Amino acid sequence: MDVWKEMKRLQVEQVVFCQEEQAGLQAVIAIHSTRLGPALGGCRMWTYATENDAVADAVRLARGMTYKAAIFGLPYGGGKAVIVGNPSTDKSEDKFRALGRFIERLQGRYITGVDLGTTVRDMDWIRLETPHVTDTTGTIMAAGDFTAEMTAYGVYLGMKASADYLLGSGDLSGRTVAVQGLGKVGFLLCGLLRDAGANLVIADIDNALVERAVKAYHARAVAPDAIYGESCDIFAPCAIGGILNDATIAKLRCAIVAGSANNQLQEEIRNGEELEQRGILYAPDYVVNAGGLIITACELQGVSVPEMKRNVERIYGMLLKVYLHARQEAVPTWLAANMLAEAELSKP
Ligand code: NAD
Repeated sequence: MDVWKEMKRLQVEQVVFCQEEQAGLQAVIAIHSTRLGPALGGCRMWTYATENDAVADAVRLARGMTYKAAIFGLPYGGGKAVIVGNPSTDKSEDKFRALGRFIERLQGRYITGVDLGTTVRDMDWIRLETPHVTDTTGTIMAAGDFTAEMTAYGVYLGMKASADYLLGSGDLSGRTVAVQGLGKVGFLLCGLLRDAGANLVIADIDNALVERAVKAYHARAVAPDAIYGESCDIFAPCAIGGILNDATIAKLRCAIVAGSANNQLQEEIRNGEELEQRGILYAPDYVVNAGGLIITACELQGVSVPEMKRNVERIYGMLLKVYLHARQEAVPTWLAANMLAEAELSKP
């Protein structure tokens, strides 16, 4: 990957390459945009196959954060930090403190937080070097699984809005929902769906998590590869990115795709078009999974917990707005969401 070309293509403001030999830190901070405010976005730690993969992941995720904040009118931009390394074996206080010093040097242009592979303890280490970090001990997001809870709640509301728009009713009782991924968000989402009277089909590569969900919600489990072909009203990708691709879309037998995973479309244009042609309503990922970002923004602005929940409930109306815009402009839903976000970004 040519980094400059990619920065131009995705309109990335700044990429910071962080290297500190003694702490064993190799990381990238991507600031996609500070047009609407400081760039907000978590810190991911992952065993990337190549250094280029780490940069590509950081810039793409940072861009998603910009669009997510913009479409909801939040006064933040988008950023992301990625640390190259194995989260199970390569963590140390030194490493996170070293990253904290890099973040401090950005003087508030980037605010980090928990993401895939990082925890509250890691954020506490970063906090020793900089105040520009969320999800530290004592914050509402660090208590229990509040971020996952609000993300699941947002996805649930997004499903209701999508069913309302496409099927004529937001009532999910008797609807069948296929949930891929039963981690922090997927499991809580299953609980909300079960309480709403939906039938659940589930899959995860971790058998213990499958068993837990079968027991808790009387869900029907299928093999990870079989979930795509399950006949259902809603398919909910709550595992990894890139899972809507040339191979999987052909198998889908659902009316709606709405789930928490980031960057679900492997190739935004081609795969988004394919879903459209197959008559499947796609809830753009960064709209439907915005619950976590919305409460982070709320916490930074000192908003109360009940008010935070009301803010997350905006996801319902926002998705309807995206769908109506897509219909009016005769464009796919992912593009309609981008258009609305870009309109916010280009406001004087
Ligand atoms: P998690 O790591 O707790 O759960 C992910 C689950 O997916 C794991 O149980 C894993 O075993 C499973 N999985 C991985 N590959 C799979 C496959 N091929 N088939 C089936 N299952 C598979 O993560 P999470 O916090 O629940 O987040 C889920 C997704 O939502 C991620 O993509 C994340 O980036 C996104 N997201 C999460 C939040 C949040 O608040 N946690 C917010 C926004 C977006």
